[in-house]
Amino acid sequence: MLIGHFAVAFAAKRAVPRVSLGVLVAATELIDLLWPLFLFAGLESVRINPGNTAVTPLAFVHYPITHSLVGASGWAILFGLLYWAVTRYAAGAVTVGLVTVSHWFLDALVHRPDLPIYPGSSTLVGLGLWNSVAGTVLVEGGMFLAGVWLYASGTRPRDRVGRYALWAFVAFLVLIYIGNLFGPPPPSVQAIAWAGMASYLLALWAEWFDRHRFVAPGDAVGDAVDALSTVDRNA
Ligand SMILES: [Zn+2]
Repeated sequence: MLIGHFAVAFAAKRAVPRVSLGVLVAATELIDLLWPLFLFAGLESVRINPGNTAVTPLAFVHYPITHSLVGASGWAILFGLLYWAVTRYAAGAVTVGLVTVSHWFLDALVHRPDLPIYPGSSTLVGLGLWNSVAGTVLVEGGMFLAGVWLYASGTRPRDRVGRYALWAFVAFLVLIYIGNLFGPPPPSVQAIAWAGMASYLLALWAEWFDRHRFVAPGDAVGDAVDALSTVDRNA
Protein backbone atom coordinates (compact mmCIF):
# COMPACT_ATOMS: atom_id res chain seq x y z
CA MET A 1 0.00 0.00 0.00
CA LEU A 2 1.21 3.50 -0.73
CA ILE A 3 -1.12 6.50 -0.63
CA GLY A 4 -3.48 4.68 1.75
CA HIS A 5 -0.79 4.97 4.46
CA PHE A 6 -0.71 8.75 3.94
CA ALA A 7 -4.50 8.83 4.33
CA VAL A 8 -4.04 7.53 7.88
CA ALA A 9 -1.58 10.34 8.70
CA PHE A 10 -3.93 12.99 7.31
CA ALA A 11 -6.91 11.56 9.21
CA ALA A 12 -4.94 11.24 12.46
CA LYS A 13 -4.02 14.93 12.31
CA ARG A 14 -7.74 15.69 12.53
CA ALA A 15 -7.96 13.60 15.70
CA VAL A 16 -4.81 14.98 17.36
CA PRO A 17 -4.24 18.46 15.87
CA ARG A 18 -1.32 19.15 18.22
CA VAL A 19 0.77 16.41 16.62
CA SER A 20 2.58 17.68 13.54
CA LEU A 21 1.77 16.07 10.22
CA GLY A 22 5.48 15.35 9.65
CA VAL A 23 5.53 13.10 12.72
CA LEU A 24 2.33 11.37 11.62
CA VAL A 25 3.71 10.76 8.11
CA ALA A 26 6.92 9.38 9.64
CA ALA A 27 4.75 7.13 11.84
CA THR A 28 2.53 5.78 9.09
CA GLU A 29 5.59 5.16 6.91
CA LEU A 30 8.00 4.17 9.70
CA ILE A 31 8.44 0.49 8.85
CA ASP A 32 8.84 1.36 5.16
CA LEU A 33 11.41 4.02 6.14
CA LEU A 34 13.37 1.43 8.12
CA TRP A 35 13.03 -1.27 5.46
CA PRO A 36 15.68 0.15 3.05
CA LEU A 37 18.17 0.30 5.93
CA PHE A 38 17.64 -3.41 6.57
CA LEU A 39 17.88 -4.10 2.82
CA PHE A 40 21.23 -2.27 2.66
CA ALA A 41 22.39 -4.20 5.73
CA GLY A 42 21.41 -7.48 4.06
CA LEU A 43 19.11 -8.43 6.95
CA GLU A 44 15.96 -8.30 4.85
CA SER A 45 15.47 -9.10 1.19
CA VAL A 46 13.20 -8.37 -1.74
CA ARG A 47 13.22 -9.73 -5.28
CA ILE A 48 12.06 -8.05 -8.49
CA ASN A 49 9.42 -10.36 -9.88
CA PRO A 50 7.08 -8.71 -12.43
CA GLY A 51 3.58 -10.12 -12.13
CA ASN A 52 4.01 -11.11 -8.47
CA THR A 53 0.60 -9.50 -8.06
CA ALA A 54 -1.28 -7.30 -10.53
CA VAL A 55 -0.08 -4.22 -8.65
CA THR A 56 3.48 -4.84 -7.45
CA PRO A 57 6.44 -6.33 -9.31
CA LEU A 58 8.11 -7.15 -5.98
CA ALA A 59 8.38 -10.41 -4.08
CA PHE A 60 8.80 -9.58 -0.41
CA VAL A 61 11.01 -12.54 0.37
CA HIS A 62 12.12 -11.80 3.91
CA TYR A 63 11.32 -8.77 6.07
CA PRO A 64 10.55 -9.95 9.59
CA ILE A 65 12.24 -7.10 11.47
CA THR A 66 10.25 -4.34 9.82
CA HIS A 67 7.15 -6.13 8.54
CA SER A 68 6.19 -8.83 11.04
CA LEU A 69 3.27 -7.94 13.30
CA VAL A 70 5.52 -8.23 16.35
CA GLY A 71 8.26 -6.20 14.66
CA ALA A 72 5.85 -3.45 13.59
CA SER A 73 4.33 -3.36 17.09
CA GLY A 74 7.78 -3.01 18.61
CA TRP A 75 8.63 -0.07 16.34
CA ALA A 76 5.22 1.45 17.18
CA ILE A 77 5.88 1.24 20.91
CA LEU A 78 9.37 2.68 20.48
CA PHE A 79 8.18 5.58 18.35
CA GLY A 80 5.23 6.28 20.67
CA LEU A 81 7.55 6.30 23.69
CA LEU A 82 10.04 8.54 21.92
CA TYR A 83 7.25 10.97 21.05
CA TRP A 84 6.04 10.89 24.66
CA ALA A 85 9.57 11.47 26.00
CA VAL A 86 9.93 14.57 23.84
CA THR A 87 6.43 16.06 24.22
CA ARG A 88 4.83 14.45 27.32
CA TYR A 89 1.63 14.47 25.28
CA ALA A 90 0.01 11.12 26.05
CA ALA A 91 -2.89 11.22 23.56
CA GLY A 92 -0.40 12.18 20.85
CA ALA A 93 2.00 9.39 21.80
CA VAL A 94 -0.74 6.75 21.74
CA THR A 95 -1.92 8.01 18.34
CA VAL A 96 1.64 7.98 16.97
CA GLY A 97 1.96 4.34 18.10
CA LEU A 98 -1.39 3.34 16.60
CA VAL A 99 -0.62 5.08 13.31
CA THR A 100 2.74 3.28 13.17
CA VAL A 101 1.22 -0.18 13.62
CA SER A 102 -1.66 0.63 11.24
CA HIS A 103 0.92 0.23 8.45
CA TRP A 104 1.11 -3.52 9.05
CA PHE A 105 -2.65 -4.03 8.95
CA LEU A 106 -3.04 -2.01 5.76
CA ASP A 107 -0.16 -3.92 4.17
CA ALA A 108 -1.91 -7.14 5.25
CA LEU A 109 -4.97 -6.04 3.30
CA VAL A 110 -3.10 -5.64 0.01
CA HIS A 111 -0.06 -7.96 0.12
CA ARG A 112 -0.25 -11.61 -0.88
CA PRO A 113 0.47 -13.80 2.18
CA ASP A 114 4.05 -12.67 2.89
CA LEU A 115 3.76 -10.79 6.20
CA PRO A 116 4.96 -12.87 9.18
CA ILE A 117 3.35 -12.66 12.61
CA TYR A 118 6.74 -12.67 14.33
CA PRO A 119 10.31 -13.14 13.08
CA GLY A 120 10.66 -16.81 12.20
CA SER A 121 6.94 -17.56 12.19
CA SER A 122 5.70 -19.76 9.37
CA THR A 123 2.27 -18.10 9.44
CA LEU A 124 2.24 -15.50 6.68
CA VAL A 125 -0.60 -13.02 6.38
CA GLY A 126 -1.96 -11.14 3.39
CA LEU A 127 -5.44 -10.80 1.91
CA GLY A 128 -4.12 -10.06 -1.58
CA LEU A 129 -6.09 -7.00 -2.66
CA TRP A 130 -3.09 -6.30 -4.93
CA ASN A 131 -4.36 -9.09 -7.20
CA SER A 132 -6.86 -6.52 -8.45
CA VAL A 133 -5.71 -3.15 -9.79
CA ALA A 134 -9.27 -1.82 -9.80
CA GLY A 135 -9.93 -3.02 -6.25
CA THR A 136 -6.66 -1.54 -5.00
CA VAL A 137 -7.26 1.84 -6.63
CA LEU A 138 -10.84 1.94 -5.37
CA VAL A 139 -9.93 1.20 -1.75
CA GLU A 140 -6.69 3.15 -1.58
CA GLY A 141 -7.95 6.06 -3.68
CA GLY A 142 -11.08 6.29 -1.51
CA MET A 143 -9.00 6.28 1.66
CA PHE A 144 -6.69 8.93 0.26
CA LEU A 145 -9.54 11.23 -0.79
CA ALA A 146 -11.13 10.91 2.65
CA GLY A 147 -7.81 11.56 4.43
CA VAL A 148 -6.95 14.61 2.34
CA TRP A 149 -10.46 15.97 2.85
CA LEU A 150 -10.24 15.51 6.64
CA TYR A 151 -6.90 17.31 6.76
CA ALA A 152 -7.68 20.09 4.28
CA SER A 153 -11.02 20.88 5.89
CA GLY A 154 -9.68 20.69 9.46
CA THR A 155 -6.79 23.09 8.84
CA ARG A 156 -6.39 26.45 7.09
CA PRO A 157 -3.38 27.87 5.26
CA ARG A 158 -1.50 30.68 7.01
CA ASP A 159 0.13 31.69 3.75
CA ARG A 160 0.91 30.50 0.26
CA VAL A 161 3.25 27.73 1.41
CA GLY A 162 0.44 26.32 3.53
CA ARG A 163 -1.87 26.34 0.54
CA TYR A 164 0.29 25.29 -2.40
CA ALA A 165 2.84 23.01 -0.75
CA LEU A 166 -0.06 20.88 0.52
CA TRP A 167 -1.61 20.48 -2.91
CA ALA A 168 1.78 19.90 -4.54
CA PHE A 169 2.37 17.13 -1.99
CA VAL A 170 -1.00 15.55 -2.77
CA ALA A 171 -0.36 15.77 -6.53
CA PHE A 172 3.15 14.35 -6.13
CA LEU A 173 1.85 11.32 -4.20
CA VAL A 174 -0.80 10.67 -6.84
CA LEU A 175 1.83 10.83 -9.61
CA ILE A 176 4.15 8.44 -7.75
CA TYR A 177 1.19 6.14 -7.25
CA ILE A 178 0.29 6.15 -10.95
CA GLY A 179 3.96 5.54 -11.79
CA ASN A 180 4.01 2.56 -9.43
CA LEU A 181 0.82 1.13 -10.88
CA PHE A 182 1.58 1.53 -14.56
CA GLY A 183 5.32 2.22 -14.84
CA PRO A 184 8.09 -0.32 -15.48
CA PRO A 185 9.44 -2.40 -12.58
CA PRO A 186 12.41 -0.91 -10.70
CA PRO A 187 15.79 -1.70 -12.29
CA SER A 188 17.44 -3.12 -9.17
CA VAL A 189 17.03 -3.78 -5.46
CA GLN A 190 19.50 -0.93 -4.84
CA ALA A 191 17.15 1.40 -6.72
CA ILE A 192 14.23 0.22 -4.56
CA ALA A 193 16.20 0.91 -1.38
CA TRP A 194 17.30 4.36 -2.56
CA ALA A 195 13.73 5.25 -3.54
CA GLY A 196 12.74 4.19 -0.03
CA MET A 197 15.37 6.51 1.43
CA ALA A 198 13.94 9.37 -0.65
CA SER A 199 10.63 8.99 1.13
CA TYR A 200 12.23 10.49 4.25
CA LEU A 201 11.84 13.75 2.33
CA LEU A 202 8.08 13.24 2.22
CA ALA A 203 7.88 13.48 6.01
CA LEU A 204 9.90 16.71 5.91
CA TRP A 205 7.69 18.07 3.14
CA ALA A 206 4.56 17.31 5.21
CA GLU A 207 6.15 18.93 8.26
CA TRP A 208 6.93 22.02 6.18
CA PHE A 209 3.43 22.78 4.89
CA ASP A 210 1.81 21.68 8.16
CA ARG A 211 3.74 24.46 9.94
CA HIS A 212 2.24 26.88 7.45
CA ARG A 213 -1.30 25.81 8.30
CA PHE A 214 -3.32 26.14 11.47
CA VAL A 215 -6.12 24.05 12.92
CA ALA A 216 -9.42 25.50 11.80
CA PRO A 217 -11.25 27.12 14.73
CA GLY A 218 -14.53 25.51 15.60
CA ASP A 219 -13.46 22.10 14.35
CA ALA A 220 -15.56 19.80 16.54
CA VAL A 221 -13.23 16.81 16.48
CA GLY A 222 -10.12 18.89 17.09
CA ASP A 223 -11.70 20.92 19.87
CA ALA A 224 -12.90 17.80 21.67
CA VAL A 225 -9.46 16.19 21.60
CA ASP A 226 -7.80 19.44 22.63
CA ALA A 227 -10.19 19.76 25.58
CA LEU A 228 -9.38 16.21 26.62
CA SER A 229 -5.66 16.75 26.34
CA THR A 230 -5.93 19.93 28.43
CA VAL A 231 -7.54 17.78 31.11
CA ASP A 232 -4.71 15.28 30.73
CA ARG A 233 -2.10 18.05 31.06
CA ASN A 234 -3.73 19.42 34.18
CA ALA A 235 -4.17 16.02 35.77
ZN1 LIG B 1 5.15 -1.60 4.14
